[in-house]
Amino acid sequence: MSEKSKTLWNPMVHPGVPGSHSTLEIIKGDGNYVQNREGQWLVDGVGGLWNVNVGHNRTEVKDAIKAQLDELEYFQIFDGVTHPRVKELSDLIIDMTKPEGMARVMYSSGGSDAVETALKISRQYWKAIGQAQRYKFISLKQGYHGVHFGGASVNGNTVFRTNYEPVLPGCVHIDAPWLYRNPWNCEDPEELGQLCAKQLEAEIIFQGPETVAAFIAEPVQGAGGVIVPPANYWPLIREVCDKYGVLLIADEVVTGFGRSGSMFGVRGWGVAADIQCFAKGINSGYIPLGATVVNERVAKGIESCENFSGAVMHGYTYSGHPVACAAALASLKIVQDEDLPGNAAVQGADLLTKLQNTISEFPSVGEVRGKGLMVAIDLVTDKKSRTPVDPMSGFANQIAAVALREGVIARPVGTKIIISPPLTIGTEEVDKMVAALLQGFTEVD
Ligand code: PLP
Repeated sequence: MSEKSKTLWNPMVHPGVPGSHSTLEIIKGDGNYVQNREGQWLVDGVGGLWNVNVGHNRTEVKDAIKAQLDELEYFQIFDGVTHPRVKELSDLIIDMTKPEGMARVMYSSGGSDAVETALKISRQYWKAIGQAQRYKFISLKQGYHGVHFGGASVNGNTVFRTNYEPVLPGCVHIDAPWLYRNPWNCEDPEELGQLCAKQLEAEIIFQGPETVAAFIAEPVQGAGGVIVPPANYWPLIREVCDKYGVLLIADEVVTGFGRSGSMFGVRGWGVAADIQCFAKGINSGYIPLGATVVNERVAKGIESCENFSGAVMHGYTYSGHPVACAAALASLKIVQDEDLPGNAAVQGADLLTKLQNTISEFPSVGEVRGKGLMVAIDLVTDKKSRTPVDPMSGFANQIAAVALREGVIARPVGTKIIISPPLTIGTEEVDKMVAALLQGFTEVD
């Protein structure tokens, strides 16, 4: 067993909860598998961290990284400077988001950065067009938008906020379109979509439409427990935002580039946001990279400002890092050539059905839900009341520990187990994941 480091401070680990993965040390990756210190190859059921979409150790991506290191390892893109890869990647992303009408890409180093950029750009947009009083953000309970102060302020789970308060003023949270648990006890998807859209409208009116900058949400809520909205939700949300001029930000850090079974999350519902946040799948995690993409409305609004407010005074030393961009170009070519969104849809549906058929009857399995290769098992102490297990009980960790022993990494997140493998998986990996989780529930539940 691997020695636990005394100097490494792992993010988001409570020392009091027995950790299923506290002895896991990953030393190698290949395709859909990673190898632990003991030499066992494990199905990477978490895709790194929802991000290794093209799988591990892809020659195409590694070659692109090496070639870029030989050519130019780094130069900045401030002051109007560019380099070839950042230009090529920007053209590619704008081409890929053509149906959404996207116009400009601003780079950063990851998802939290991409969200922070989106929030700041939203505020700047309203100032640029003379409506500085529009500063508020509305977001969803259970939402996750990263860890910077902006993201922490719009996050809909207090565990990411409480320790760091006070956060940004003017951030309010409304209910998520969650069929399994919602305040109306509504089990009809169509009706729930309408109730949630009405709640957004009511909140905008309550806050004063002239004060609301943007609504931000994940197309499918990921870390909050893979909450898949009803089909009418996103189109209705777009309508409400349009009615009051509120900007719509889609946080596609997880869903971007195929994970939910379409190239982009909101595209799955035929909706275009004004701003999209990307990271993770943009280059499958080979090098840190984030991107925030805006449509013409936002770009023109800011750029048409004649004083210096027309410059976005936001950017990072590593914005558009040449090696990260080279990795993205190679990774996105694989995503397109191998139709990984299509594979995510097919394998995700198979995984979901097989899991539902295999583990649903266990007493602690409240619901197994998902879309594409985002799947969650919701753990309860009582199926009828849908009371979640105590996150401090370590129950999810115990299941994940058995799955790990059986050769599959699944992610215990409080009261849920989350599965988000590379988008390259096939039936073999699906079956291994189902078998390992079945073993977990058989031994622990
Ligand atoms: N937004 C969403 C939807 C995420 O799931 C995450 C991370 O999981 C983030 C933002 C933050 O990204 P990062 O961890 O790269 O900062």
